Amino acid sequence: MIDSHTHIDFKEFNDDREKVIKRFFENGGEKMINVGCDLRSSIRSCELAKNNENIFASVGIHPHDADTVDKNSLKKLEELSKHYKVIAVGEIGLDYFRNLSSQERQIEAFRLQLELADNHNMPLIIHCRDAYNDLLDILKSYQTDSWHGVIHCFAASQKIAEEFLDLGFYIGFTGIITYYKDRSKLGNKPEIYRVIENMPLDKILIETDCPYLSPVPRRGERNEPLFVRYVAEKIAHIRNTSLEEIEKATSENAIKLFNI
Ligand SMILES: [Zn+2]
Repeated sequence: MIDSHTHIDFKEFNDDREKVIKRFFENGGEKMINVGCDLRSSIRSCELAKNNENIFASVGIHPHDADTVDKNSLKKLEELSKHYKVIAVGEIGLDYFRNLSSQERQIEAFRLQLELADNHNMPLIIHCRDAYNDLLDILKSYQTDSWHGVIHCFAASQKIAEEFLDLGFYIGFTGIITYYKDRSKLGNKPEIYRVIENMPLDKILIETDCPYLSPVPRRGERNEPLFVRYVAEKIAHIRNTSLEEIEKATSENAIKLFNI
């Protein structure tokens, strides 16, 4: 299993970080990608990656902190991105749900970091909430046939999933897919189930986004990388296939996308 989106540098893990990491790697975990969301967490992600063979880092500034994207922070991200354990730029993107930075600043920060990824030929880890149309417009405005990256924590329609697939993106699923209400006996499946059923197997990634978004049956607890198994199980269940097939495919996909 590869957890393609963790934040184990966060303070929620200050008391038992090493134990959490060990638990993952001793119970079927192969690799994890610790994702930066501001300058400080990007630096911490790099430290974790340097000290652990199977942890990799991404560096980037989240749309919530778009106001901090400037010449200096970009230069620092650029320096960090040169380390061989830094394998992606992210999480970057747009978040119109919370709008902690203005939409104009978010768009500007996103574009600047897209250029950083492009200059270093690195994949993207994209965060998007309530902003899919603007995000797609921005991505389509560049002269490229195919992007490489992942739309993390996907929670939109089949139509939007298809647009990202057409652009060359992978789609990442978190624990939120485990707590949509399934009323399939009433012929009323959540839209995300249809997205998962129709997704090409070679485009799916699994992730926890820990310490957030704990999957069923761990709702209410702190999330951790080991729980990525529940996401894989749910995908296997929805697609009517084995856990082994989903674990194998999602590991191969992460290894290919991030070259790890
Ligand atoms: Zn995240």
